[in-house]
Amino acid sequence: MSRHRGSCLCGSIQFEFERGYLSAVNCYCSLCRRAHGGAYSTHIAMRSEQFRLIKGKLKVFSASTEGRRAFCEDCGSHVLVHGQIADDSVAVPAGLCEKDTPVEVTAHIFVRDKVAWYRIEDGLPQYDGWPPGVVATHVD
Ligand SMILES: [Zn+2]
Ligand SMILES: [Zn+2]
Repeated sequence: MSRHRGSCLCGSIQFEFERGYLSAVNCYCSLCRRAHGGAYSTHIAMRSEQFRLIKGKLKVFSASTEGRRAFCEDCGSHVLVHGQIADDSVAVPAGLCEKDTPVEVTAHIFVRDKVAWYRIEDGLPQYDGWPPGVVATHVD
């Protein structure tokens, strides 16, 4: 298990999490797109107890039945998605982690919501919604 750290744009929010292997997904859903302002967002999902807020205060926004999203109150960086793959899960946008964090993107998800102006050009698996085997009871 190694410990990884991340922070928001202004540095008010600092967090760490413990994971052995940092698999991540690129999510193309409209919620991620609007929260990040890009074609997709790269998320590392984990159990809530693996994540620890070290410093700062998060502003929580209920974006959908899918789950709550939390942002830095000061700079607006998107810091957490609650309940993304299970009720006790959180997902951390990989871009907040330190640059050399060994993240491995393993799949593209919610590709059915992808914008036309972005093309996926790698050979990773693509799923219209959740990858098989992921139970997302809170998604409509
Ligand atoms: Zn901030
Ligand atoms: Zn998404």
